[in-house]
Amino acid sequence: MEHITAPVMESVLRKDPGEKEFHQAVHEVLMSLSKVIDSYPNLVYHKILDRIVEPERVISFRVPWTDDQGILQINRGCRVEMNSALGPYKGGIRFHPSVNLSIMKFLAFEQTFKNALTGLNLGGGKGGADFDPKGKSDLEIMRFCQSFMSELWRHIGDRTDIPAGDIGVGGREIGYMFGQYKRLRNEFSGVLTGKGSQWGGSFLRPEATGFGLVYFAAHMLAGRSETLEGKTCLISGSGNVAQFTAEKLLEMGAKVISFSDSTGAMVDHDGIDHEKLAFVKQLKNVHRGRIAEYQERYPHAQYYRFNPRDAFSPLWAQEADCAFPCATQNEINEQDAKHLAENKVILTAEGANMPTSEEGIEIFLSSGMLFGPAKAANAGGVAVSGLEMAQNGSRLQWSRSQVDDHLHRIMKNIYTTCVEYAQRYSTPENFVDGANIAGFIRTANAMLDQGYV
Ligand code: NDP
Repeated sequence: MEHITAPVMESVLRKDPGEKEFHQAVHEVLMSLSKVIDSYPNLVYHKILDRIVEPERVISFRVPWTDDQGILQINRGCRVEMNSALGPYKGGIRFHPSVNLSIMKFLAFEQTFKNALTGLNLGGGKGGADFDPKGKSDLEIMRFCQSFMSELWRHIGDRTDIPAGDIGVGGREIGYMFGQYKRLRNEFSGVLTGKGSQWGGSFLRPEATGFGLVYFAAHMLAGRSETLEGKTCLISGSGNVAQFTAEKLLEMGAKVISFSDSTGAMVDHDGIDHEKLAFVKQLKNVHRGRIAEYQERYPHAQYYRFNPRDAFSPLWAQEADCAFPCATQNEINEQDAKHLAENKVILTAEGANMPTSEEGIEIFLSSGMLFGPAKAANAGGVAVSGLEMAQNGSRLQWSRSQVDDHLHRIMKNIYTTCVEYAQRYSTPENFVDGANIAGFIRTANAMLDQGYV
């Protein structure tokens, strides 16, 4: 069936040269689809594959802002509106110096399938800027967010495109962007999710990605009659997703032993308990410090400084039962995956988007490890964003427990959908194929219904 998917891949490589992250994301999905596309001649005839890899719209814009010294700075902003077959575009905004079109397109592409898996009516999109929030004052962040929104506002809306947070964009940035949107549009609407819970935000939205990830992991383990209780867990990153993954793992009786940031990783073999986690939250969210400071506070912990020339990460070479990459794309390479498999890690569930290289995924799947791909495992965040939109639309706010019940139900449905599609079209427990195929079929059928648009 590669005769159907290979030309699509070739076309992407030809039209979008140099977009290596986008190529990687498309290739992974096409590999899964090559197992089933023959059964859907209608989708082939109507060129759904060719259409689904082409963004509906890409917006690129200049973001001028002045720093605290009064010096003009220029960044590049972007929004990729990938696919609106299932609903308005939905996906986060990332502020990080690495942001480029390839990364935005891979994230928007992944988001389309992830949003389809939630069962909600959400299309896929992603946006961001090559702006580095690290070391910036609050006022600089505010001026940047206002300038970013001074262009973005005309392209978004609560029925058109509803951005949320991602790397470098948390509650503070959402607040500044929302304020500017409201001012320009003279409208208080649910145009962004991840808002403060006092002014339109949903309870549990900050926690949702991490909590949902752990719910998904618990389902995968239950499929093998295992639980998280007593399991030693590695987490990378120390931002939003990492922190709430740790919190839920502790609640479920697991032992968390690591965090990282872009400078290095810390490992605490005694375990990171609630008190130590509170220290990390304060360090990262309030003081905006570095994870290296964990070792200054808890000297028995080990700290490994990353070197971009290193062939592998010391973090993934630690002995553990479960791994939760929650930092960024391609943080687990082939060698890292080998270390995890050799150390008999039984489960890896992706909190970050595409944190495992394609070679790494191959190793996980062939080793018999349970592997939860991002599209399924980290969908809790966008799911609760969808619930925030529902609350905004009805001018109501649901309780924490109501939202948590919905999140539980959605993560369970995503898990059972992945199992069902993996069993039907691939090998049992191949959740990569399960997620890709199920997300594709739902989106593709909606595209068929809506004609050539
Ligand atoms: P945060 O900005 O809160 O945290 C990001 C963490 O990852 C930080 O610890 C950061 O370290 C680290 N990091 C960022 N870039 C790199 C890099 N190039 N190398 C190593 N470490 C890096 O972001 P989130 O926690 O929100 O996002 C983390 C991941 O989860 C991303 O892949 C995101 O797309 C994904 N995700 C997030 C969702 C959400 O709801 N927030 C939803 C679904 C997925 P440092 O402090 O040094 O920058």
